[in-house]
Amino acid sequence: MGLPMTNRQYDYLIVGSGLFGSVFAQQAVENGRSVLVLEKRTHIGGNCYSAEHEDTGIIVHRYGTHIFHTPNKAIWDYVNRFSAFTRYRHRVLTKHRGRVYSMPINLGTINAFYGLDLKPGEVDAFLAARRPRIERPANLEEKAISLVGEELYRAFIAGYTEKQWARSPRELPASIINRLPVRTSYDDSYFDDTWQGLPAEGYTPIFERLLAGADIELGCDFLADRDYWRSRARRVIYTGPVDAWFDYCHGRLGWRSVRLDTEVLPVGDFQGTSVMNYADTDVSWTRIHEPKHLHPERSVRENTTVIVREYSQVDDDAPYYPIGTAADQELFGRYQEMAAREAGVRMGGRLAQYRYFDMHHVVAQALKAAREELSAGAA
Ligand code: UDP
Repeated sequence: MGLPMTNRQYDYLIVGSGLFGSVFAQQAVENGRSVLVLEKRTHIGGNCYSAEHEDTGIIVHRYGTHIFHTPNKAIWDYVNRFSAFTRYRHRVLTKHRGRVYSMPINLGTINAFYGLDLKPGEVDAFLAARRPRIERPANLEEKAISLVGEELYRAFIAGYTEKQWARSPRELPASIINRLPVRTSYDDSYFDDTWQGLPAEGYTPIFERLLAGADIELGCDFLADRDYWRSRARRVIYTGPVDAWFDYCHGRLGWRSVRLDTEVLPVGDFQGTSVMNYADTDVSWTRIHEPKHLHPERSVRENTTVIVREYSQVDDDAPYYPIGTAADQELFGRYQEMAAREAGVRMGGRLAQYRYFDMHHVVAQALKAAREELSAGAA
C-alpha cells in the first residue's frame, strides 16, 4: 500500500475498500491501471473486516460473522488466490422456548419440534397437511407459511424476522426468505453451496493482498469533498449508498442496521457453536456469535472465549441490510435511472445496488464490472 502522491492523477478513483471496491482495484491494477482507493473508515475491508482479538488470539469479524460460500468454482478459485481457506461448513442453531433446534428447517428440526420420527419421504405430505395453498405469496409471512405451515413459521421465523427487521413479516418482501431452504433430510448445513470456507487468517489479509498495488487514503469521506476527488481520476467507481451520491434528493432508502456487543468470558466454550439464533421475541438479541468456533484449527488462549451479541437497530449512518419495501424499490428505481445517466462513474456493491448480496455475488459483480471497464478502454 503506497501513500498517494499529492495531486497525482489516477485512472480510477475507487470509493470504498469493501469487497466490490477491492476486487475491482485488484483487477484494474493487474491490467496496468493506476488506482486510488478512498475509505471513510480507518480500516480496509468494509463489513468483511476481521481482526485478531488482542487478549485471546481469536479472530473476530467486526461486523458480524461472514462465511464465504459460492456455487461458482471460478469465484472460489479467484478468492483462493488471495488466501488459503479452511474447510469450515456453517451450521446454525436456533433457540425456541428454551430448546435448541437446527436451522434451516430440516428433518431434524421438524422431528424435534413435533416429537416425531418422520422419514424423508413423509415430510412433504406432513407439511402439506399443515400449510395452506397460497398461489402467489405477497410477503414474507405468506411465503414462509406456504412453505412450512403456521406452527413452524410462528416458532422459528415470525419472532426472529420481526426482531431483525423491526416490522411485521407481512410488510417484508418474500425474497428475504428465499435464502433459507427447507430440507426433507437431516442435512443441517446452512448453505447449499459446494464451495465454502473461511480465510485461514481472517478476511483482512485478503483485502491487503487485493489492494497491494493501489494507493489508499483511510479516514477520508469522498462525499465531503467530491469535486476535488473527482478531479484526481478519469473515472470513479463508487460503492457507497446510491441515495447519498444524489444527496437524498428523492428521500432516503430504508436500511436496517445492527449493534454488536462484544464480551470476553472466562470459559472455554460458551455455546458450543459459532452462531446461535434466538427465535423468540422475549430475548432482545437476534443471535449470539462465538467466533472461536469458526476456526477450530487455531490454538487460542485457553479457558477464554469471545461472544458477540447481535441486536437489530435503525442507524442511518451504518446501513447493513436493505429493507426493500415496495416504496424502497420504487425509490431505488428512480436513483438507478439517475445513476445510469451520470458520466464518468460506475456504481456497484451492496450499498450502491441496494441489494442483499452474499459475498460471492459481490465478487462476481466486481469481476464483471472490471471486465466491462477494462476491456472498453474507458480509462
Ligand atoms: N430467518 C428466520 N429464522 C432464522 C434464521 C433466518 O426467520 O432462525 C429468516 C429471517 O427472515 C431472516 C432471513 O431468514 O431475515 C435471513 O436470515 P440470515 O440470518 O441468514 O441472514 P444473514 O444476516 O446471516 O445474512
